Amino acid sequence: MTTSEDLFARARSLMPGGVNSPVRAFGSVGGTPRFLVSARGAYVHDADGRDYVDLVCSWGPALLGHAVPEVLSAVHAAVDRGLSFGASTPDEAALAELVIGRVPAVERLRMVSTGTEATMTAIRLARGFTHRDLIVKFAGCYHGHVDSLLAAAGSGLATLALPGSAGVTAATAAETLVLPYNDLAAVEAAFAEHGPRIAAVITESAPANMGVVTPGEGFNEGLRRITAEHGALLIVDEVLTGFRVGPAGYWGLTGQREGWAPDLFTFGKVIGGGMPVAALGGRAEIMEYLAPLGPVYQAGTLSGNPVAMAAGVATLSLATDAVYAHIDARSAELSEAVSSALSAEGVDHSIQRAGSLFSVAFGTSERGVHNYADAQTQEAYRYGPFFHSMLDSGVYLPPSVFEAWFLSAAHDDAAMNRIYDALPAAAKAAAT
Ligand code: PLP
Repeated sequence: MTTSEDLFARARSLMPGGVNSPVRAFGSVGGTPRFLVSARGAYVHDADGRDYVDLVCSWGPALLGHAVPEVLSAVHAAVDRGLSFGASTPDEAALAELVIGRVPAVERLRMVSTGTEATMTAIRLARGFTHRDLIVKFAGCYHGHVDSLLAAAGSGLATLALPGSAGVTAATAAETLVLPYNDLAAVEAAFAEHGPRIAAVITESAPANMGVVTPGEGFNEGLRRITAEHGALLIVDEVLTGFRVGPAGYWGLTGQREGWAPDLFTFGKVIGGGMPVAALGGRAEIMEYLAPLGPVYQAGTLSGNPVAMAAGVATLSLATDAVYAHIDARSAELSEAVSSALSAEGVDHSIQRAGSLFSVAFGTSERGVHNYADAQTQEAYRYGPFFHSMLDSGVYLPPSVFEAWFLSAAHDDAAMNRIYDALPAAAKAAAT
């Protein structure tokens, strides 16, 4: 049998770090990444013949669980009709209708293949529509590997950012203002200084890439108010939260009820049910600035790919209220179980929550985590031993403390019980 260790050695000789996306290399938790060969329901299976209850769910897309028969049949039927035509197909409109039906603030939608493309296009569109150049983002929010959105956290109120990755030019980084999350005063100050140049504020609807951080009461609504006052657009990134925390994403749990809407949304992950689909959508007046109607160019050979559309249509059609209720309930139970296991071992922590998404932050019980600085100053070293203990007990957690835990409709009692049984030893490992 070829083991994960053999496969990793081979992969490292062929691909940088042996991976095609960095966090998969287990860099922050150490050890050998498990090479996965199949997945069914709530479980993933590795090349070493072991199975794990999966709390990564492909980083979000597997809302219904893995290899759901109805989704697979829709995909198989689409495959039988051909893989890609480079022309319009009926399922593109079917998926757009499902999205618009769920998120009424979306009037027009453009399908792309990755979340990165969605946010990249959204900021190009915002600049084209407003004829302004600056973008505001928040430290610790991840919007994909778009050059200008990789800008690192700056200190102070409105630091003109330094590049957050080699290869991003200083000129590009200087077009992004990086502000502390959950700090409306910083946003007001940035607009007071640079208002006429700011094209858009982009924010994760609820951040889940510095661990989960709950937007403070009125924060997103405040962003809506300030951007509107200054003629800038508000882009709400729901690549991770969209169709995962509820039928209309995190905005559906908050903004829709409060009666405000962003100008543009970005979606990804669940929208494709595990196939490469993402999208941007919003007000028709703005979206129609995109080619072929408008002057902002965007295109894609594989955009709206028929097999990917079939997976998206089948997944969203099955994402009923009952699915969300199940995931909400499991998430509440699990986060309580994690918290009590850690408390039993005296491990200081806080559970960070946004809808059914949660993560654990170590050593933060007094202050919680409200922004990137809070997230970075936690006792992150406790996560590696916790993670490996869970892995040894057959539970596959995100291999980084800065990621959310994902559940699915397939997480039944048997899967949950395996997680609960694993927690005491993991909590003990975190304590040492
Ligand atoms: N935006 C958010 C909020 C994300 O979480 C991610 C990916 O995790 C992206 C954008 C980028 O999406 P992709 O990895 O599909 O490019």
